[in-house]
Amino acid sequence: MDHLIDPHVSRKRNSSKHWACDIREVKGSDVVELNDNKEKFSQTDDDGVASDLARPTQAEAEDAVRTLLKWAGEDPNRQGLIDTPKRVVKSYLEFYDGYKHDPREILSRTFDETGGYDEMVIMRNIRFESHCEHHMAPIIGHAHVAYIPDERVVGISKLARVVEVFAKRLQIQERFTAQIAKAIDDTLKPIGVGVVIDAVHECMTTRGVQKPGVSMVTNFMLGSFRDNSATRAEFMSMIEK
Ligand SMILES: [Zn+2]
Repeated sequence: MDHLIDPHVSRKRNSSKHWACDIREVKGSDVVELNDNKEKFSQTDDDGVASDLARPTQAEAEDAVRTLLKWAGEDPNRQGLIDTPKRVVKSYLEFYDGYKHDPREILSRTFDETGGYDEMVIMRNIRFESHCEHHMAPIIGHAHVAYIPDERVVGISKLARVVEVFAKRLQIQERFTAQIAKAIDDTLKPIGVGVVIDAVHECMTTRGVQKPGVSMVTNFMLGSFRDNSATRAEFMSMIEK
């Protein structure tokens, strides 16, 4: 690092935030039990637009998997495939578990006692598995998350948990990156936040253009990470080690 640059200069938040792209975000969801044994998901995005989606029953979901097996050219009644719909539906509960959790709630328990610590906190190489919203194909990669606390810090496992919650939803990498940064910014009100994600999209490596070995890198910076090139450079140098 260039030690001639005082790290405490220009770390103040820039109050006028502006976004690099148009981002819409699902802010948590409620699950409501209905009489007909179906669940109803209620979601509200950033624009305040609520959408109520009737959730199919497990039997309906398994039927849909049988349809896709037939679409692929298989016989769903073949011995080896008999239990496949049940397994696929069960695996969806894991793949898409993130809709049930609110990242802002996860980050809400903060510690005010920072002991005067005002340097960068970095959690790097947070491994995640997500799925792209265009093909429902796996996105596998690592997230690097950093912030400079103002008055509040959060338990470091919570940063990994927030990555996990957003990963367990259908995603595009750009929005995923921004959602993590904005959730931290909204709850911790830090001096700055930086998120870098490096991931392989299997929809690109196993189909379509079929380019194995290609990864996509996105970053989203807020506050001092956006305004101060020295802060950004410090973050980048720490995650490249
Ligand atoms: Zn895709």
